[in-house]
Amino acid sequence: MNILPTQLLIDGAFVQGEGEAERVLNPATGELIVAVPEASVEQVHKAVSAAHRAFDAWRDTTPMERSRLLLKLADAIETRAEDFARLESLNCGKPYARALGDEIPAIVDCYRYFAGAARCIGGTVANEYLAGHTSMIRRDPLGVVGSIAPWNYPMMMAAWKIAPALAAGNTVVLKPSEQTPLTALLLAQIAAEIFPKGVLNVITGRGASVGQPLVEHPKVAMVSLTGDVATGRKILQAASTSLKRTHLELGGKAPVIVFDDADLAAVVDGLKVFGYYNAGQDCTAACRVYAGAKVHDKLVADLSSAVKAIKVGAQDDPESEVGPLISDRQRARVASFVERAQMTGHMEITTGGKLRGGSGFFYEPTVIAGARQDDEIVKREVFGPVVSVTRFTDPDQAVAWANDSDYGLASSVWTQDVGRAMRVARSLQYGCTWINTHFMLVNEMPHGGMKSSGYGKDMSMYALEDYTVARHVMVKL
Ligand code: NAD
Repeated sequence: MNILPTQLLIDGAFVQGEGEAERVLNPATGELIVAVPEASVEQVHKAVSAAHRAFDAWRDTTPMERSRLLLKLADAIETRAEDFARLESLNCGKPYARALGDEIPAIVDCYRYFAGAARCIGGTVANEYLAGHTSMIRRDPLGVVGSIAPWNYPMMMAAWKIAPALAAGNTVVLKPSEQTPLTALLLAQIAAEIFPKGVLNVITGRGASVGQPLVEHPKVAMVSLTGDVATGRKILQAASTSLKRTHLELGGKAPVIVFDDADLAAVVDGLKVFGYYNAGQDCTAACRVYAGAKVHDKLVADLSSAVKAIKVGAQDDPESEVGPLISDRQRARVASFVERAQMTGHMEITTGGKLRGGSGFFYEPTVIAGARQDDEIVKREVFGPVVSVTRFTDPDQAVAWANDSDYGLASSVWTQDVGRAMRVARSLQYGCTWINTHFMLVNEMPHGGMKSSGYGKDMSMYALEDYTVARHVMVKL
């Protein structure tokens, strides 16, 4: 791709942002990729007005028509898969092969899933609950959805928000993270040729200057955020004045309970991927391991040597398994967690624990042994390539520790005892529990949290419930 996308899409037209320029960096070198001027408040309002104007006509399209256009978008992304993967990996630092091989197919499938699902939205059949009256339920779109995305999977998070919202008949104003706006801006170019003007608008900029006015706009009916817990709170406060619907996908601190009978080789192979994928910048990362006393020492030893062998490198290095962190700030934050863990005296960094010299925001994949339940490294979201291991002797204690968290997004249980796996899965207070795996998502199944991980479901028919309102219509016969 010769020209990098920098223009916003408002009401079907490409315009330059009139706000401050945001420096978008390559995390593997720290160098400037391009400066993207953010939207002014006036442009935020224009985007919302455009989406509001487009809503009536878009709501009145048939599901078949919305489905056709979403399928067109999926095909167009697939055709440009390499451009999208190159831009996403350049902007986020993730290995190109992973962006192309793992993420783009899942994104294309998300649009295709919701293209099909659009045609399955339905109310319930009419029925008589009051003599002489017929009741029916309609499921209708809400209006303009303000969709606010994070920097770790910019294009996938945009897909999780745009696809169900448009499928249900809403119109959208998407605001990607100021750090990673590039694939959203390329998506805007493709979408502008497919959807009627105003149906999808893309504006860039920071949370305070662009996100906040979007959330506060009275014509925005619903706000969907994937981001930090603190941001979720701010958005809830801002949305409270007009009581808009909110859909919050916030952080996580996924526990991984490894029982003594687990297949240890499978656990180590799994953790090597699921703890460090996207440099651990993943809300479901397998970052908090509880290991049974009999397997603990071998798990720490085998995991440490497996993690030591992870190839860390730049996006275009075909050998690279883990890229840099998103920013110098994020790397400093991760490093400070590891330093504080080291300072406690009872934890051991068995591998990693260092910045990689040279340019870029690289941090070595790290394993921390000897972590205790009250340690910060066990309690707080690090959002980096760091996995802690805690020994347990009492299985009930392990489950209690796993649940002893502000977060409730994802968890996993590793055992060969099916009964135990099912009992523990039932006890875990998490939106998702995997058994003998971790991290795997499918568009047919819901993804979302409990507790401080937020509420609302992405993916699946449950997302369509979030992006529609159930309405009762009663007829006197
Ligand atoms: P962030 O909260 O800093 O930013 C997320 C988005 O919110 C960005 O677009 C940002 O500009 C915007 N924003 C910030 N302040 C705002 C405000 N006051 N009003 C409106 N918008 C505002 O999060 P991040 O650092 O980009 O992403 C990392 C976080 O996202 C982590 O905590 C991670 O766990 C979470 N996350 C959760 C999921 C999930 O599915 N639950 C998935 C990915 C990431």
